[in-house]
Amino acid sequence: MTNAQPGATLAATALPTTMPAVIFRGEGVLSLEERPVPAITAPDDIVIKVGAVGICGSDLHALHTPPTHPGLPGVIFGHEFCGEIVATGPEARGLAVGDRVAVDQNPPCGRCGPCRDGNGNFCEPLFDNPHLDIPWPNTPGFFWDGGMAEYVKVPSYFAYRVGADVPWEHLVLAEPLGCVLNGIGKAGVAVGDRAVVLGGGPMGLLTVIALKHFGVEQVILVEPAVKRAEVARQAGADLVINPAAAGVREEVLAATGGRGATVVVEAVGNQLDTAVGVAADRARIVVLGINNSYRANLSAMTVTIKELRILGSFLMRYTMRESLDLIQSGELPLERVVSHVLPLSEVHHGISLARAGEGLKIVFKP
Ligand SMILES: [Zn+2]
Ligand SMILES: [Zn+2]
Repeated sequence: MTNAQPGATLAATALPTTMPAVIFRGEGVLSLEERPVPAITAPDDIVIKVGAVGICGSDLHALHTPPTHPGLPGVIFGHEFCGEIVATGPEARGLAVGDRVAVDQNPPCGRCGPCRDGNGNFCEPLFDNPHLDIPWPNTPGFFWDGGMAEYVKVPSYFAYRVGADVPWEHLVLAEPLGCVLNGIGKAGVAVGDRAVVLGGGPMGLLTVIALKHFGVEQVILVEPAVKRAEVARQAGADLVINPAAAGVREEVLAATGGRGATVVVEAVGNQLDTAVGVAADRARIVVLGINNSYRANLSAMTVTIKELRILGSFLMRYTMRESLDLIQSGELPLERVVSHVLPLSEVHHGISLARAGEGLKIVFKP
């Protein structure tokens, strides 16, 4: 087993018949099993040799008991992946064996009403999930076989071709970064903004990195974990506030001349009240975090009299290309985001690292 190097190609005939794969068993259980290598069945299919696959917060939610994210027992886990095409169906247009691709695991169909309205992240077929009675993205890795394996099969429109010189462990950040770009794009950030990011996990850290890349002068991160705070400083955060040690609102006001943040990005899921507390008049608050059990306690009058703009942001909204361009530019310190690169055989170790909040992005190379 070798990891494909940039520019390397693999002949389709070289595919083995079985492969190690991480199977989601439900009840918080993942098991490493031998599975058949996927074969082309639909004319638009492609088979990818996985270059890297990341652990996402949603994965941890699915592994929670009881689960706080839905998933179908028996499927191959992992939805953030990239790799090299090793087989294509006859109708997989524009892609060929040997192409390196990043995968959008929730792509718009392009044909439904929301897609035609320009709202691909509300794509009807995407949310028409045959396994659930609520609308929910029918994502590989949760409802059909995902990327925690040596090979994975997806329809070709999931894949974006990329250049040869980006490490797999950076390319695997394409979708999380695309979600961040969707969020901060809604806020319309400018150089003079004073930004506060709540939460220094992978999404919060990618937000800090993107805001600094776009020239935002002051980016303040709120994060209690010492290691994550340190990484965020190295990645460009101007100030990191430990919420366990200080009053977040007071610290933000002190750091912003008493004016508060013009942009706040909530990347935790249960910090909307804090976001409102640190917001300046007319601030834009972007809510990226997901937590179904949290209820905010915010004062509607505060929203009115401060003229706050609270902007929810879900999935990517045509931001995959921009994300890939940024990643391929090599200008983002993405090596700060990826804390661990492990072989797939260490999946349980990787999951416990992610659960402990020890590292940042944990990536496997099958
Ligand atoms: Zn994810
Ligand atoms: Zn659609």
